[in-house]
Amino acid sequence: MKHYELAVKFYKEKGPRHDKSLWTIRQKRDKAIKEVPEWESLRVQASEIKDYVIENLQDLVDEFIKNAKNAGIEVVFAKDAQEHNQTVLKYLKEINAKKVVKSKSMLTEECGLNEFLEKNGIEVIDTDLGERIVQLRGEKPSHIVLPAIHTTKEDVAEILGEENTDPTYLTHKMRELLRKEFLSADAGLSGANFLVADKGWAVVCTNEGNADLGAVLPPLHIISVGVEKLVPNMNDLGVFLRMLARNATGQKITTYTSIFGKKENGKRVIVLVDNGRFERLNSEFKETLKCIRCSACLTTCPVFRRSGGHAYRYVIPGPIGSLLAPLSDKEKYKDLPFACTLCSSCEMVCPVKIPFSKQLVKMREYVTKENIALKLAEKSMHHPQAFKLFSTILRLTPKPVLKTALKEWSRYKALPKIPKKRFISL
Ligand code: SF4
Repeated sequence: MKHYELAVKFYKEKGPRHDKSLWTIRQKRDKAIKEVPEWESLRVQASEIKDYVIENLQDLVDEFIKNAKNAGIEVVFAKDAQEHNQTVLKYLKEINAKKVVKSKSMLTEECGLNEFLEKNGIEVIDTDLGERIVQLRGEKPSHIVLPAIHTTKEDVAEILGEENTDPTYLTHKMRELLRKEFLSADAGLSGANFLVADKGWAVVCTNEGNADLGAVLPPLHIISVGVEKLVPNMNDLGVFLRMLARNATGQKITTYTSIFGKKENGKRVIVLVDNGRFERLNSEFKETLKCIRCSACLTTCPVFRRSGGHAYRYVIPGPIGSLLAPLSDKEKYKDLPFACTLCSSCEMVCPVKIPFSKQLVKMREYVTKENIALKLAEKSMHHPQAFKLFSTILRLTPKPVLKTALKEWSRYKALPKIPKKRFISL
């Protein structure tokens, strides 16, 4: 199903509640950033740091690998999702792992790691509360920071087999169940929010401390992370740490912000993943690499708030997902750049100043390049005679035929009245 069909279905079932919950978070975010008078200059700084990272990505990758190895961390570079999954499996097999505890990582979702490991006989337990809820429901996250925002407390009680729907009770119940998993896991997996190039350290931000338990309790900790998460040094890291949680949920900082170097009680491995990122550096969409996954563009988007994340069908939904999804599969996700009103709310809140409106318009061009009708229309505009012929055909075509030919476009819009005379013959 396409985005609009899934969106209509979601809106009827859950749209108004979802919209209200996310708008409350957007308001908290607005309040939190007002407490930082230099917010706009922080955005400029953050954007410039990310521009520097994009321009010097290969050098920063080399610097990070050298320093991480010196810090006692194994680093493996994976060119794509398959290589990433095979690498993780290799390390897990080395210790004969049967169960891993995993904290939130959009990259592992991008690589389909859970399914891959399960197929290879390794149980994966998601440990972030929201992620565990969607895992038990057999779903994918619907928001990158609030993966279960589309569910209700009744939904959670149901999957836990509980009658009590009190959120505190349910959270304690889940905590009790997850604690057992942490204590019996063979390895911990996590993502990383940032990698500090001149130290070789990985920075993980969570509100539940689940990544920390997974990093510390089992003898092996694997961090899966995309190359674009690099920042040059600790000063630059400071800029992003001031912005990330404030812009995501209105908190001053995430409850747990942990910096991981050498693992004292075992082995730590970082799998540094490309999966198309270096190729994107040379494309007109390279600015998407600046994203720090704060999720503010999703939360503020009037379409996302009403359609929910699953309507996007891609691992990252919302405005940033509408740019990333067609880059991963142009045909499958070509409807997503149009799931947008171009209101620019995403652009206003993005901490790294991704120019969404321009990028989304470019993406619309990119996904429609192969559309023969549009191509003919475009070509005809360069030749007056061809344009004359094209507009005559358009005027003479009966409305029902035109409506069928443009059925995607005209589903929710009335066809404009075609004038009897052409503009140039007036
Ligand atoms: S695109 Fe910008 S606002 Fe959206 S998640 Fe990324 S950093 Fe945040």
